[in-house]
Amino acid sequence: MIDAFTHRELVCVELGLALVTVLALLFIAAPYGRHARGGWGPTLPNHWGWVFMESPTLLLFVPLYFLGSHANAPGSLWLLGLWLVHYIHRTLIYPFRIRTKSKSIPLLVVTLGAGFQVLNAFVLAPQLSQFGAYGSDWLVDPRFIVGTLIFAGGFFINRDADRTLRNLRRPGETGYEIPRGRLYELVSCPNYLGEIVQWIGFGIATWSLAGAAFALYTIANVAPRALAHHRWYFETFPNYPTGRRALVPYLF
Ligand code: NDP
Repeated sequence: MIDAFTHRELVCVELGLALVTVLALLFIAAPYGRHARGGWGPTLPNHWGWVFMESPTLLLFVPLYFLGSHANAPGSLWLLGLWLVHYIHRTLIYPFRIRTKSKSIPLLVVTLGAGFQVLNAFVLAPQLSQFGAYGSDWLVDPRFIVGTLIFAGGFFINRDADRTLRNLRRPGETGYEIPRGRLYELVSCPNYLGEIVQWIGFGIATWSLAGAAFALYTIANVAPRALAHHRWYFETFPNYPTGRRALVPYLF
């Protein structure tokens, strides 16, 4: 397990990476999905790309967690459970449910995504099981309870929004339609909104700079993509609802 000084340095690296990421993605839309284009090198089938990109969240995160001296603390185990609920789905289930036949993702995007998840595993896993104090008293702490409820709300929004997108295509289809219903009446990308809410909740539940760094990185990663999607919808569909915002209802 890493020492506290190295851990603090890695948290700072993640914070710095959030800044670099938001600046880069405001100018260059990550080249996958509707923003896919040539010139980004070799590619992988989309679903395998997702599996490889997210695999460190399970293959590295879990062993690192169990190296921590407080790995059996009740609060730590609960936080690990929240992590696994999200990432077992994202890594092993979501990639095989999306209707993405014949589409591919650049190896570069997969490698950068996986590389970030390696860094993040060294930031969050030791936070949960080594450097944080998440004993049984943490289970009744208001920060833990509020954070967990926010996480659950974000999780529901994200899953519900991803399901709506999936249902826009029949098996084998790869085109795009205007998504409608629930939060899609207010924003173009409720799936990204849910993702952000989830990790803000997780950050609150961990009450740590490490948790805040991951929430900030998530915002840096998906907010520019929400803007790019939003612009794309207006350019692609002349009848796109004008009242919709990109990411945050009524605001942004
Ligand atoms: P997108 O919204 O771009 O796409 C999600 C899926 O829905 C894709 O299969 C896409 O197809 C399809 N889709 C999207 N819009 C439409 C439409 N209008 N009509 C028909 N099909 C559509 O999301 P991402 O692929 O970027 O992200 C997927 C998940 O991963 C999300 O839940 C997101 O929150 C999460 N994520 C998390 C990140 C983080 O930093 N934590 C970073 C990035 C994503 P196609 O691929 O063909 O466009």
